This record gives sequence, C-alpha cells and structure tokens, in this order.
Amino acid sequence: MASSFVLSSVAKRLEGKVALITGGASGLGECTAKLFARLGARVVVADIQDHKGRVLCDSLGPDTASYVHCDVTKESDVASAVDAAVARHGKLDVMFSNAGVAEPRQKSFPDCEVDDFQRLMSVNVTGVFLATKHAARVMTPARQGSIVITASTASTIAGLMPHAYTCSKHAVVGLMKSAAAELGKHGIRVNCVSPHGVATPLAMALLDLDKEAFEATIERSANLKGVRLGTEDVAEAVAYLAGDESRYVSGVNLLLDGGFTIAKGLA
Ligand code: NAD
Repeated sequence: MASSFVLSSVAKRLEGKVALITGGASGLGECTAKLFARLGARVVVADIQDHKGRVLCDSLGPDTASYVHCDVTKESDVASAVDAAVARHGKLDVMFSNAGVAEPRQKSFPDCEVDDFQRLMSVNVTGVFLATKHAARVMTPARQGSIVITASTASTIAGLMPHAYTCSKHAVVGLMKSAAAELGKHGIRVNCVSPHGVATPLAMALLDLDKEAFEATIERSANLKGVRLGTEDVAEAVAYLAGDESRYVSGVNLLLDGGFTIAKGLA
C-alpha cells in the first residue's frame, strides 16, 4: 500500500503544474507535451502548425491540453500565449522554450545569405528571448517558475551544424545564463537541454535521411554505444528540469549526448 502510494506520487510528479511548450506540435516538444500530461501537468501547446497542434491536444483531452497559435518571432503572439495559459489555468509554472528551425545544409561563409541568417536567428534566439521575457513577466509576481530552453550539442561545439544554427544555440546558452542570473532572486530557475541528434522532422530534413538511416548515422558517430537517443530521453530531462526534483538547479546546460562533445569535440 505504502509503496504503491509512493510510486503513484512519483508517477504524477508534475501534478498541479501548468506548462507552456513552444514548438509543441512536433518532435521533442510533442513528446514532452505527452510526457508532461502523463505526469499530471496541464499543458498549453504553442506552435505555427495549427492542425498538428490541435490533433495532439485533442488526443490528450481538453482538461489536460489546449492549443494556441504562436509564432515565436512575434512578441504579440508570445505575450498572448502566456496570457492564454494564465487565463485558462490561473498561473504558469513551466515555460519550455523549444521552437526551433535549422538551415537545410552547411554553406561556406562567402555563400551565406544575411536574410537566411536573420530568419533563423529570429526563431532560435529572438523566440527564446521573447518566451523568457513573457514567462518572467508572469512568474516574477508568483515568485516561482522554471524556464527550460532547447539548445543543442551545437551550443558547445562547432563544425557539426551550419553556421547560423551553431551561432543560435551558443547564443541561447548565454541568454539562459543571463536570465538565470537575474531571475534567481524571484525564485525562477532557467536551464537548457542540449540533445545530440534525435530523429525528428527537423533533424531528418537536415540530413535528408529517413528515420532508420538517420538513427544509424547517429549511432555510428556516437560515443556511447548500445543506446539510441530518443525524443523520450529529451522529454524526461525536460520533466526533471521543470519539476521540483531539480529545485536547486539553475544556470545549467544539460547535455544529452552520451559524452559526444567531450570525446569528439570538433571545436
Ligand atoms: P521539429 O521540427 O519536430 O519541431 C520544431 C517545432 O517548432 C515544429 O512544430 C515547428 O512548427 C515549430 N516552429 C518552428 N518555427 C516556429 C515559430 N516561428 N513559432 C512557433 N513554432 C515554430 O524539430 P525538433 O527536433 O523537435 O526541434 C525542437 C528543438 O530541438 C529545436 O529548437 C531544435 O533546434 C532542437 N534540437 C533538435 C535536435 C534534433 O536532433 N532533433 C537536436 C538538438 C536540438
């Protein structure tokens, strides 16, 4: 009896939390929305893929999940998404700032276009800035909250991914540290998760590979053998950083790379 009580409270370890997930309609965000729902959180999925986002929320149930259209490059969209979460649930405990894009392929510097660079930075960096700003706006008076940002192994090493992407992921780690330094006095924690390659639409399009070929490629280059990094592994790390188990963890870039960056750092 006692042990089943303990297990069920561990199983519902995000019970009572309200989380907003940008880029929540697909890939890492979608998997995290599903895990958060299983762990008892109420989730607001914010994305530009409206149909996919609504189908996901319908599958999780109206009491658990709701969808808002939100282009993270637009401040009014991000502000409205945060306000929608608070209006529906009375508070915001967790901001998972996860929406991101990647350039299709590496170009050498003379061939890089400034418009492409700025477009990527507006989603991957300005989007994270806006999510942090508006989460802080409602978390500060509540004197608590957890902001988790999806960076990448490209936040610590160069030569693996295209220039703008690498630049954007280094930038969000700086933003995370700056936010953690300021917001700690309000009880708000800010951290990053930095996965290595996971077979999502973004990653598979980047290498132009199907799921099996993508995973085999990642496996060949991996440092840690015998395990494949999956979307669930990332979702579990985000759940840890979102929940009270990590209540004294802030300012951390949590690498989920099986040691790739320390063993094979390309920088
Ligand atoms: P994905 O393409 O499956 O999901 C990205 C989501 O972001 C999509 O639903 C997309 O619609 C949304 N999005 C894109 N632009 C947006 C915008 N302007 N406003 C709101 N939403 C927008 O890819 P994913 O791999 O799940 O990517 C999630 C995050 O993980 C990204 O930040 C990505 O850089 C990062 N990441 C992915 C990998 C990987 O291998 N998959 C590794 C490291 C980091």
